[in-house]
Amino acid sequence: MSSIVELSSLEELTLNAEQIQDDLLEKILRLNSNTEYLRRFLHGSNDKELFKKNVPLANYEDVKPYIERVANGEPSDLISGGPVTRFFRSSGTSGGKQKIFPVNDEAIEQLGYVLALRSLVMSKHFSDNGVEQGKTMEFHYTKPESTTPSGLPVAAAFTSFFKSDYFKNRPSKSQYTSPHQVILCPDNKQSLYCHLLCGLSQRDEVVRFGATFAHALVRAIDFLESNWKELCGNIRLGHVSEWITDLGCRSSVSAIIGGPNPELADLIEQECSHKSWEGIVTRLWPKAKRIECVLTGQMAQYIPILDFYCNKLPLVSTVYGSSESIFGFNVDPLCKPQDVSYTFVPNTSYFEFLPVDHEGDMTSIVDLVNVKLGCYYEPVVTSCFGLNRYLIGDILEVTGFYNNTPQFRFVRRKNMVLSVETETTTEDDILKALARATFVLESSNLMLMDFTSSADISTFPGHYVFYWELKGKEVNDVLVLDEKTLMGCCYVLEESFGSTYRLKRRTGLIGALEIRVVEQGTFNSLTDYFISRGSSRAQYKTPLCINSSEASAVLENKVLARFHSEKSPPLDL
Ligand code: AMP
Repeated sequence: MSSIVELSSLEELTLNAEQIQDDLLEKILRLNSNTEYLRRFLHGSNDKELFKKNVPLANYEDVKPYIERVANGEPSDLISGGPVTRFFRSSGTSGGKQKIFPVNDEAIEQLGYVLALRSLVMSKHFSDNGVEQGKTMEFHYTKPESTTPSGLPVAAAFTSFFKSDYFKNRPSKSQYTSPHQVILCPDNKQSLYCHLLCGLSQRDEVVRFGATFAHALVRAIDFLESNWKELCGNIRLGHVSEWITDLGCRSSVSAIIGGPNPELADLIEQECSHKSWEGIVTRLWPKAKRIECVLTGQMAQYIPILDFYCNKLPLVSTVYGSSESIFGFNVDPLCKPQDVSYTFVPNTSYFEFLPVDHEGDMTSIVDLVNVKLGCYYEPVVTSCFGLNRYLIGDILEVTGFYNNTPQFRFVRRKNMVLSVETETTTEDDILKALARATFVLESSNLMLMDFTSSADISTFPGHYVFYWELKGKEVNDVLVLDEKTLMGCCYVLEESFGSTYRLKRRTGLIGALEIRVVEQGTFNSLTDYFISRGSSRAQYKTPLCINSSEASAVLENKVLARFHSEKSPPLDL
């Protein structure tokens, strides 16, 4: 992969996707066909047709024994012809359990390449001459790496990226408001505070505002709401709070805030003291032109609240990737976040697509350039680092083509469904229903900060439970839960679900859906719970459905009130 990233690369890649994919598969097979894993199916052959005929589709359980053997010190060539020098750890909050995937520095370069190409596309859309001035204020975090028994580092992809020499020496350095030390700080609360302090100190230079996932952005604004007085105090006196004990953060942030700045502190104080925080981002960072973060899939729930805080600045959903591979990015940044599709980048991994309705016919799998418009597929990845025909577990819809390369809408995770009877309510169903329910909420003074759901089958009939964390639109509002509105939300959620759900609900096989409103800060506790179990803050995604009893307990302990609708949803809409 070239280290030089130019805007013209996007045209070259997307025009020649078929050839690039073909060459990539050839390269991968030359490198990996003699691994213990592939030898079983290919007997050392590099033949691409044989690869497609003989190598089975795999999920994590199939490759786990090999990955674990390498992690325990056996040679890399069990799974990969190239060296395995580290592992990426998945967040485990989108698809269940955490997993680790073998990689080396080339995976970090791939990620860097796609991020740099994406930045060039953004600059093309948001500046007259393709060159953007100003700084980026982004909330990035890292976590200390763990090591495998054989001593190889294990970390989330973004932690590995930000800690890498590639990032330090990256060819095109976008100007972040935060110094590298803040991203590298192992204490994420100190990082967050320092990100805000640096961003506020340089408020006139900030033109881009974001995070990897929308969740991190919403949490950052929430933290600002609780801590702005202290931040202003630091700016006023030119002194970083004593609890920022990380030496790298202290010295680098002190240098950025410079000396005392009472005028700036007054200005920020004035904006933050407004009773309503509507548009707070544009008021504090008046030159910000866009918000960048992932806003599709599980992150779509944060669109209304970001619209509220950011005064309808363009919300740009950026990249689509996973610990297994980076897939693609959004080449049309000005489209609405609800309409985002991702254009696959054909030189990262070899991609195949399994139609959702394959009905057991595995030969219906197609190459990247052969997917059909309007059809739904699960991506299957063959990476340079030892994954072969690996099922990613996401469902995507083909929405168009950029040159010869398909573009996909993220639909949902494959296995994340709510079900208490025989009905299945998918992530997509949940998010669509939620969007309608938040519309009902709009009429009240409440905003939905975060949510998750679970299927309660402890009693008959089983029913769906939605945990909602709500907040008043005005700062320090006492939370007044209007029963009629919340019952209305329950009704709209149920009304939006599929016909099987509604039928079973009417016939009493499914009980009334419940909204359980939890105390403010509950979802922070849930995040902390998942992070204590190994997730990284940067890649954290609140699961749309919870099925672990420990995670449920975090929520159950904080329930303030329960609501359900008194009428069943209609059968016909
Ligand atoms: P992880 O490997 O833990 O970072 O999780 C990867 C998963 O996050 C993907 O398989 C998707 O389910 C989800 N994900 C990543 N990027 C996006 C995106 N742009 N839109 C929706 N979901 C995403």
